[in-house]
Amino acid sequence: TREIRLVSRPDGWPTPENFELAVVELPDPREGQVLVQNLFMSVDPYMRGRMNDVKAYNPPFELGKALEGRAIGRVVESRSPDLAAGDLVLHGYGWRERAILDASEARKVEEIPGVSLSAYLGVLGMPGLTAYVGLLDIAAFKEGEAVFVSGAAGAVGSLVGQLARLRGASRVVGSAGSDEKVAHLTGELGFDAAFNYRNGPVHEQLAKAAPDGIDVYFDNVGGEHLEAAIGALRRYGRVAMCGSISAYNATGPVPGPRNLSRAVGERLTLRGFIVTDHAARRPDMIAEVGEGLREGKITFEETVVDGLENAPTAFIDMLRGANVGKMIVRLAP
Ligand code: NDP
Repeated sequence: TREIRLVSRPDGWPTPENFELAVVELPDPREGQVLVQNLFMSVDPYMRGRMNDVKAYNPPFELGKALEGRAIGRVVESRSPDLAAGDLVLHGYGWRERAILDASEARKVEEIPGVSLSAYLGVLGMPGLTAYVGLLDIAAFKEGEAVFVSGAAGAVGSLVGQLARLRGASRVVGSAGSDEKVAHLTGELGFDAAFNYRNGPVHEQLAKAAPDGIDVYFDNVGGEHLEAAIGALRRYGRVAMCGSISAYNATGPVPGPRNLSRAVGERLTLRGFIVTDHAARRPDMIAEVGEGLREGKITFEETVVDGLENAPTAFIDMLRGANVGKMIVRLAP
């Protein structure tokens, strides 16, 4: 089988040369293990952080070893009473076509009629839970409030906006990096307003899109967006600090928001979170997002790239914004 390894650490933007496609022979599964054929794997922004040799909330990827990440696969062979051949599982051994893992490391999932299994890597998976927890628990969004979300056409952001709309936001505003994405936000996704952050200063465009200000900012990008949002927040406003992708490829420290002192006078809350601390909310998320999907009130997009050999480019392209919705790599038909 084949796997993708990290062979050098990116300095700034990752390049295809940081990765290597290797052919490996897998041993037979031992007692308690399963052999899984991966069907889809995820490429996510957080993986960029793990490519640096820096201790963070998860450890750095090791050079010369296969990368890791979430994947959906089918059990081919099982030596565990908990899983049978044919079972579909979600697990952490992405970036490879086949994997041997302990049955306890896999979570069994069901096929949903009419929905691709890749949804477990996006809208019904980790990004879906991130949107749900960030908006409802971290930012404590309430009906009647105005919400701004950056990275709004991506996996997390597109669900944040739709959840806010369904839960009665007074206004939902999004930003994204192309005019096509902006049209998708105000079209299919039902945002009240959206803008392309490449078309002018974020604070100016935000002031036009949300003339009465905002109550909640869901921050996926940091940088100029965060500063603009702090400037637009109303009294007692909240920021869910989810990510800062605008800085993930920076080679040095990046400046913070110059208007942070506004947090004092306006009684603002800026609160960071990591989704893996909030697994207990998964059933609530699945119930609400699942119902929204069934009733057609929530939609989701995916950008699907075929073939393990193209996973590194899919990852780099995702960092550059080539994706609408979740970036997915399909490993087998
Ligand atoms: P996306 O599907 O949103 O893909 C990343 C997007 O980031 C790109 O499509 C691109 O869209 C946008 N982007 C890239 N560079 C910039 C930039 N300089 N300024 C603004 N936007 C940029 O990824 P996810 O939905 O998976 O993740 C979104 C954010 O959430 C990330 O910051 C990620 O790290 C974070 N996250 C945090 C978690 C947590 O536990 N705290 C869990 C999961 C995700 P565009 O064309 O609009 O530029």
